[in-house]
Amino acid sequence: MKKLPSVEHGTVSDELVQLSKYWVKQKHIEHYNARTVEEAVSLLDWDAGEAQVIAGGVDLVHLIKTAVRLPRVLINIKKIPGLAVIREEAEGLRIGALATIHDIELSPIIKEKYNLLAEATHSIAAPQVRNMATIGGNLCQQVRCWYYRRSPVTGQSFFCHRKGGEQCYAVAGNNTFHAIITGGECNSVCPSDMAPALIALAAKVKIAGPGGYRLLPLDEFYTNVGNVLHSDEIITEIQVPSPKPGTRQRFCKFRLRKAIDFAISSVAAAITTEDGQVSGARIVLGGIAPTPYRTICAEASIKGKVITESVAEAAARAAVTEAVPLSMNAYKLPITKALVRRAILG
Ligand SMILES: Cc1cc2nc3c(=O)[nH]c(=O)nc-3n(C[C@H](O)[C@H](O)[C@H](O)COP(=O)(O)OP(=O)(O)OC[C@H]3O[C@@H](n4cnc5c(N)ncnc54)[C@H](O)[C@@H]3O)c2cc1C
Repeated sequence: MKKLPSVEHGTVSDELVQLSKYWVKQKHIEHYNARTVEEAVSLLDWDAGEAQVIAGGVDLVHLIKTAVRLPRVLINIKKIPGLAVIREEAEGLRIGALATIHDIELSPIIKEKYNLLAEATHSIAAPQVRNMATIGGNLCQQVRCWYYRRSPVTGQSFFCHRKGGEQCYAVAGNNTFHAIITGGECNSVCPSDMAPALIALAAKVKIAGPGGYRLLPLDEFYTNVGNVLHSDEIITEIQVPSPKPGTRQRFCKFRLRKAIDFAISSVAAAITTEDGQVSGARIVLGGIAPTPYRTICAEASIKGKVITESVAEAAARAAVTEAVPLSMNAYKLPITKALVRRAILG
């Protein structure tokens, strides 16, 4: 199989355009149906770096078709039994990595006790996508940055930080939909709506690898250019602790097209009150940073207080204290503040 040369500049050579077209046409990818988690991990381990997990395929197939991602081998995990379970146990909720967004949206236990998740699922894409998309794939989907996703087939491609390059093209380019809070090199935003919702509920991810399983708080899962998964690891489950009594949950999202669109900004809030005062809060922003952004400042500003308009207003201001908008996206600031206020007031 021909190998594509790497792209180092914004504009790619004719040779790369031709090769990308050839590659897309050939679609020469080996495909394995893993029957167990262990088998999936060992297949990934055996072909580390060249093999990639496929679940619903909603994101990955598009990236392959446009030659943005070029795995040599696909490991299909959809055939593994038992990974689509949603059930509540004594410690809380367990969601298998293959549960679809649709399964989560309609689950009676989620609607009743974890309605933040149900609200988030309802805001994702359209029913067709929700039927195919899995929770594991939603958490691991690639950013929607137009520089990252530019197909070499078009004659232009961008070798950005996420691809191992040394530049973020959004800084000097069109950054309308990019981050307003960023601590690193990449300025694209985490596109997952489930991630902030799950982090607000203090969820953990269970990860299988060659050495067995590890459990990681979801707020430690993301990095500025992706996530902490090794190339031979997969997510098998998401665990969500039972919310404390008196916890109010809210997911608010702003998007340009109401029917189907990724978040310009979103807020997931789980706020616990005792005797009318806030005793605990987790407030997580989506669509405004390369990782879901837990706003400790906003959380601290409401702790011990009775929720009022002015308390919510102060928290909204606190939520964006670290924001440094790029040249074209300062409009996200008032939107984010309005969403924080709305999420806190319920
Ligand atoms: C029109 C449209 C609108 C959308 N709108 C939204 C939206 O509003 N909000 C939102 O959050 N999302 C949205 N999405 C994104 C969609 O939710 C994701 O593409 C989908 O959830 C990916 O899940 P999948 O199972 O299809 O993953 P795949 O495409 O199969 O995989 C995606 C990535 O995850 C990896 N992966 C998959 N499962 C695992 C696992 N168990 N362990 C480790 N790695 C894994 C794959 O290797 C790949 O890198 C939209 C998508 C479309 C097409």
